[in-house]
Amino acid sequence: MVARYPLHCMKMADFLALDTLEPHNKLLEQGKVVPMDLEGAHAGVEIQFVSHQWLGYEVADPKREHLRTMQAAFKRAMTDGSKFFKTEDDWKVRVQSIAVSPCLGLALASSPSLSCCARRASQAFATGMSSANRETLKGAKDALDVDDDTLKAIEGSGGNSGEGMDLEAASAAFQASVRDGWVWMDYISVPQTIGLSDPAAVRAALAKQALAIRSIPAYITRAHRFWICTPYGATHESGQRCSYATWNERGWCRLEETTISLLNLANHARPLLLTDDLSAYLNGTGSAVTPDSVDRVSVHIQRRNSVLNGAFSCCSLGHRVKTLDGSTADIPCDKVILRQVLAAVFDEGLARAKAVWSADPLHDKRDMGTGTFWGAMGHGFMGGDLSFVRWYFNKSLRQCVFAESDDEPDFVKLGWCKPCEQLTSEDAAAYCARWGMAWAPDGSVERAAGAFWPAQEGNLPMLRYMVEALHVDFMAPNPLGVTALHCAARQGFDAIVQYLVSKATERVGGAGDELNAWLDLKTAGPNYLSPIDGAAVRGHHSTIRLLASLGASVHTRRANGRTPLHSAAAFGHAECIRALLELGADPEAVADDGSKPADLVTNSCSLWAWPTADHDRCLELLASDVERESKDK
Ligand SMILES: [Zn+2]
Repeated sequence: MVARYPLHCMKMADFLALDTLEPHNKLLEQGKVVPMDLEGAHAGVEIQFVSHQWLGYEVADPKREHLRTMQAAFKRAMTDGSKFFKTEDDWKVRVQSIAVSPCLGLALASSPSLSCCARRASQAFATGMSSANRETLKGAKDALDVDDDTLKAIEGSGGNSGEGMDLEAASAAFQASVRDGWVWMDYISVPQTIGLSDPAAVRAALAKQALAIRSIPAYITRAHRFWICTPYGATHESGQRCSYATWNERGWCRLEETTISLLNLANHARPLLLTDDLSAYLNGTGSAVTPDSVDRVSVHIQRRNSVLNGAFSCCSLGHRVKTLDGSTADIPCDKVILRQVLAAVFDEGLARAKAVWSADPLHDKRDMGTGTFWGAMGHGFMGGDLSFVRWYFNKSLRQCVFAESDDEPDFVKLGWCKPCEQLTSEDAAAYCARWGMAWAPDGSVERAAGAFWPAQEGNLPMLRYMVEALHVDFMAPNPLGVTALHCAARQGFDAIVQYLVSKATERVGGAGDELNAWLDLKTAGPNYLSPIDGAAVRGHHSTIRLLASLGASVHTRRANGRTPLHSAAAFGHAECIRALLELGADPEAVADDGSKPADLVTNSCSLWAWPTADHDRCLELLASDVERESKDK
């Protein structure tokens, strides 16, 4: 990733002293914003990358709402350290990724030849998980054939448990990193045209701006903290009330978020989200939350959230702008260049991860009784290097990363797979290699994982080949209790859900208890997630309706007593709430902690919730159904 315009940042002390957010050009002249020389004068400094949505048409922050939010957040981080985080889990998710440094010298027992850099990357993959997900992954060991000594060796090799860490030292390190840090924020770091009247100067600024914008992925790879400045209730000049949800509508903001998710493997891959009410930051009590890396990959990355499905100013202007002399000129669509940027980010992220796991000579040789693919995944799940797990999930999300509509991907049309009828065993072997596994002549590899790969990435022709030609067991759960049906439901692959259920119906001899038990099969503890719950968390209302029409229940409960309706409410999916209510879900269902679905509708992000802009609609739908029910009684 090459920066085509140098990375420009501002010292934290100078940023905290700003009265208003001034444009780049002015601050550059004053010497307050400087190009960073990370190999020389600025070696070792930590860059705080701030992403936000502009609140004005001409200037970024006309009422100083985002500047004051960031100043207050930085100050609180500097003084309160770990207390700045909303919950202890948020902090630990965060700190587990901070405290791991290459100096700790955590050698991977199985791959002593790894370079220091690769080791660091592999450790970084392994961190940043909520306690619930950590428990889930550890639970996998019961399903795998692994003894205690092996488990200890795995845990000791990759250091992803985060246990025994010096939390106080980590808090102090976090405080120092912010205090001594440098700030990147677009308005101060990217050339602007405001204040320029000379046409030649405007043209020069625009040219530099274009280079800087295309360099954003390069800047992100050099940043140490990724701050998402989205206080709830800041207002745009247009009157729009801004929040995390509105930030996340913007195509360029999505590119920043996608870039850290795919490319940054270390602590910076866990953004610090500022999503409390604006007033909380302004009075010094606003906090940060840190999304779990597993959830972010498996929940948040969906086709409708893709970069190219985001909103772009160029498109809303119809790709025509007024020039200084009053005439109009055509401008190119940002998406043209973004397709190339995305491809570069995607390829480099996968290459970085592959460099780590492919250096492990035992990578595809750990069987643990469930086949080498789940052996490789299990090795990471249970405390070893997680680079393969991250690589696999990121690679399987290709259809989301490049999505330009919310439609289910057609792999044949996209040129990503031959039609099922033309597939051969050579294609299956190549497909196996595509997922980092050597083809085994005895068929053991594809038997264990052959239904999961295509169901996870949305490849219906290959799934059909695996089921119809290679007879893989498409109903069996993996060591985490996840089935191919869970995978398909989570990505809203309705054609695949339909196919799997029709094949399952054939196999068990028609609809009935056996089929229903499989449709509602829950994943392993501690969460116990059904396929329909997975669709509800991720906002796939058509999949909910499809599963229910095939016999799945909308009343399944997680270990904590939450129903799919609780999930749809916590993640702000109004259409899923509507679908579930129409299918008879109970808006008054009470979870173990006493919460009803409406109690979970929220404006701020947390480990258990990820709001959309549909807050009010979710509440209305839930309330109207409660009212209707009470009238019926
Ligand atoms: Zn456009």
